[in-house]
Amino acid sequence: MSLIVQKFGGSSVADAEKIKHVARRVIECANDGNQVCVVVSAMGDTTDELIDLANSVTDTPRGREMDILLSAGERISMSLLALAINDMGGKAKSFTGFQAGISTDSKHGEARIFDIKPERIKEVLEQGEVAIIAGFQGFDATVKDVTTLGRGGSDTTAVAMAAALNADLCEIYTDVDGVYTADPRVVPRAHRVFEIDIDSMLELASSGAKILHTRAVEFARRHQVDLQVRSTFSQDPGTYVYSKKRDDMEEPIVSGVATDDTQSKITVIGVPDIPGKAGEIFSVVSEAGANIDMIVQNVSTTEDHLSDISFTLPHSDRAKVVQALKDQQSELGFAQVTYDDEIGKLSVVGAGMKTHPGVSAKLFRALARANVNIEMISTSEIRISVVTRASQLKEATRIVHSAFELDAEQTAVVYAGTGR
Ligand code: ASP
Ligand code: MG
Repeated sequence: MSLIVQKFGGSSVADAEKIKHVARRVIECANDGNQVCVVVSAMGDTTDELIDLANSVTDTPRGREMDILLSAGERISMSLLALAINDMGGKAKSFTGFQAGISTDSKHGEARIFDIKPERIKEVLEQGEVAIIAGFQGFDATVKDVTTLGRGGSDTTAVAMAAALNADLCEIYTDVDGVYTADPRVVPRAHRVFEIDIDSMLELASSGAKILHTRAVEFARRHQVDLQVRSTFSQDPGTYVYSKKRDDMEEPIVSGVATDDTQSKITVIGVPDIPGKAGEIFSVVSEAGANIDMIVQNVSTTEDHLSDISFTLPHSDRAKVVQALKDQQSELGFAQVTYDDEIGKLSVVGAGMKTHPGVSAKLFRALARANVNIEMISTSEIRISVVTRASQLKEATRIVHSAFELDAEQTAVVYAGTGR
């Protein structure tokens, strides 16, 4: 008997018919002799709608109340799914994050799981029932307040639950047939990846591929949870994401092209080119609570020994960081700070890059042919990222995808979902 965690995303439970469809899939898996623990997201665009509602009653929503509000979305889908399964003759019970024993830190809206005590869940599974858990939520153990894990956080709930239950497999059900070489909504000729190593998956997710929540992939890597990403709407096996090292796995030079249009660029102009300045500037940035990504420093060429430092960060953090830098301008001693919200980031990722030269050259030549200007570059062992104009990002992705010979014969199938 295997213990399987199945996670269904918002588009998979978007309406009553879809919930019934999911119920049938869950029952099938249980009837095959498995213990099944299900994690659900909120129905369709519920979370966005709840956020819109909150914004219509206040301009300054408080984190604590937002988390109680947003956690309601997953309560609706979990209980409806349990009702549907029971109606079809299966046995299921639903649980909130609190009931499932998922404790987090106290960072509302972006809480991190630090412990899971899934006693209730284990009991239910041992009795041969399906346990259904609300994704995306936990509780702050110190004050017992409800917390949420950040947008897309149900993936993290599923992986964390799989680790805590020592599950044999964690299946992530979504609205596409698995992990693709690029977003099929942007690159119609993207093709599915049958298997991928967890390091490449992590680079893809953190470079903007929306298929899996980055924190979920980090969790899977740390706790060695294998994932299967597949569609709710087909029987296709999808993509296996292997967390344990396997020698027989091929390492493609490029596994995929990811894009991110949710970043902004900040440039600090006229920074004194002396030791310690970068440390001071990025201390201010980190105290403002921003997660930065790429950093570029121009070497000072003039006699005045001033340099410029640019970095990228999420749109949503841009205003507070610009303000924090302006507040410290005289202490930091720079001339000016500017920002740009119209940037796009494109990344190519592949484990085979480690041993194959020429990947950057090929990428830059492809972009040049498409007349796309590169504004910033950063690399890791298995990733090359460039910043371009946001308006050119989609076109650039299609061109780079072709240049690395990733185009499929047929166009990809997208079953549902708004990609929102
Ligand atoms: N419902 C939450 C969201 O839309 C969590 C999730 O879907 O994973 O972000
Ligand atoms: Mg969602």
